[in-house]
Amino acid sequence: MTVPVFDTLKRPLRDLRISVTDRCNFRCTYCMPKEIFSRDFQFLDRELLLSFEEIERLVRLSRELGVHKVRITGGEPLLRRDLEQLIASLKALGGLELTMTTNGALLARKAQALKDAGLDRISVSLDSLDDTVFRAMNDVDFPVAKVLEGINVAHEVGLGPVKINAVVKQGVNDHTVVEMARHFKDTGHIIRFIEFMDVGHTNGWRLDDVVPAADIVAMINAEMPIEPIDPNYRGEVARRYRYKDGSGEIGLIASVTQPFCGDCTRGRISADGALYTCLFAVKGFDLRALLRSTASDEEIVKTLSEIWAARDDRYSEIRSSETVDLPKVEMSYIGG
Ligand code: SF4
Repeated sequence: MTVPVFDTLKRPLRDLRISVTDRCNFRCTYCMPKEIFSRDFQFLDRELLLSFEEIERLVRLSRELGVHKVRITGGEPLLRRDLEQLIASLKALGGLELTMTTNGALLARKAQALKDAGLDRISVSLDSLDDTVFRAMNDVDFPVAKVLEGINVAHEVGLGPVKINAVVKQGVNDHTVVEMARHFKDTGHIIRFIEFMDVGHTNGWRLDDVVPAADIVAMINAEMPIEPIDPNYRGEVARRYRYKDGSGEIGLIASVTQPFCGDCTRGRISADGALYTCLFAVKGFDLRALLRSTASDEEIVKTLSEIWAARDDRYSEIRSSETVDLPKVEMSYIGG
């Protein structure tokens, strides 16, 4: 039986973002800067990662508290072997919307198997169509063409509408925003432009590097008129805009200039089984120890419920020069 749980700001727990690995084959400068996540960086050993059985149990139990959407993230989730098995076991639980966020590097090869296993939709990170800019931003010289191929295959196998996530950084890729919008217009895919965020504490974030969502809207509107439309549901992260000529929509994720904490229904599980109640949290709650103890299902549900009920996070609303340097958890560790 489902008994929804609400936090101190009356926000229900509805979405779980589950990181299945802290590893990635990219070194995006705003998430996993190469200087920090170098060749010698100690990633989590396999036995420290939650097993698929532990993830399945956690999702099954969190459903009793109202969770109905699960997003698989990383690092780069497609680096986790046999990921289709996890997706199939989560799908078998029933009543769940299953999505994933990937950098698309391995997508062309894996899309069909993901779809067959039960994945519903996919989001692909692609920060620019300019090959030089993109290769510099992923910092492993990975070409745009391969990510576009992954998006096309994902669409062909029925994982669409594909959402494309582009982080916009002043002086880095902001000059390619309109080209991105033009490219995905009329395709059915939905590009979402994301304000550069002070996630973690290693990406050198400065407010000056943020391109406000309002400026991005103005850039696009000048060439391809758009207008705001209502969210699909409470807690939808992106603000939606549709092209006035009816040829599709775009999204803006404006955590810095237009915070949306009031409707945040997302919990995040790190690859090693800690629950974080905010993307900008400093600490998490160790669920792995609980899952590997003699705790019963009831005890685990009770613990999850108590953690969420005590939640009061609203980081984006209180962000200031004092908070930017807090030792926040790295995004590569809990997924976006
Ligand atoms: S800052 Fe935290 S509370 Fe606010 S929307 Fe993001 S994850 Fe949710």
